[in-house]
Amino acid sequence: MAKIANRIILFILLTALTQLGGLAYIATLGVARVLRLGSVLARISLFLAFYMGVTYAATFIAPHFGRVALSCFAKPADHLVVRSPLYCALNRNYVTPGLLRMAEGLADHMDTRFPGTVTVALDANFPFIDGFPLLPHLSHADGRKLDLAFYYRDGEDRFLNGVTRSPIGYFAFEQPNSTDKQPCAGRHDWLTTRWDLASLQPFFPVYGIEPERMRAAVAWLAETGVAEYGVEKVFLEPHLTDALGVAAPAVRFQGCRAARHDDHIHVQIH
Ligand SMILES: [Zn+2]
Repeated sequence: MAKIANRIILFILLTALTQLGGLAYIATLGVARVLRLGSVLARISLFLAFYMGVTYAATFIAPHFGRVALSCFAKPADHLVVRSPLYCALNRNYVTPGLLRMAEGLADHMDTRFPGTVTVALDANFPFIDGFPLLPHLSHADGRKLDLAFYYRDGEDRFLNGVTRSPIGYFAFEQPNSTDKQPCAGRHDWLTTRWDLASLQPFFPVYGIEPERMRAAVAWLAETGVAEYGVEKVFLEPHLTDALGVAAPAVRFQGCRAARHDDHIHVQIH
């Protein structure tokens, strides 16, 4: 009984984390049974082979269901890159073709205005099934949502191209000043994905936001993005919207139960 419960938990975990990992796990159990594979190492190897197989196959199959993969194999000439191969290994890099055009449009614009600038993509969506969320982002469930990394500079105001404060691009928060808008201050919601992760903050390098590029990117999303690419919303924490002077109808606060947006930009299209 315990064995079955463990298998169900592992299936759910793998599915929640990668969408396709649960399938690879079921295939592994089936084949291991037929081949009478007893060793754990053999089973893990078999799982990895199945997992790599379904992950690779998804890049060809998902487009037939309306989502395409952002590539994790950036060429030197690419202006849009995915933060880490981990995103692709976990199938977190799928968007609708329209969202891909928007992201490439933004990256091209940034490279035109600031030659050589690389725009960094973070979590997108899983390859299949509308309504299947990419945890912990509940809304990244339909291919129309994409997170983008901030543009950073070092302590001497030098732009850090393609660099993020945190290795995965998330959780290195820009802290508001005491006089800034802090709509969630003092709240203690228990059902929330707004995590402050205070104990992690000292580990991140103290890069600052590169304001020229940040302003240009958010302004492009709120103007050209809205007019030509169907951008619906851009989430940014209010203290950054104010500091950068990028207020616009599309630039919104996400509410206090969603993740903080002073470590990344969230974009969604219609
Ligand atoms: Zn997002």
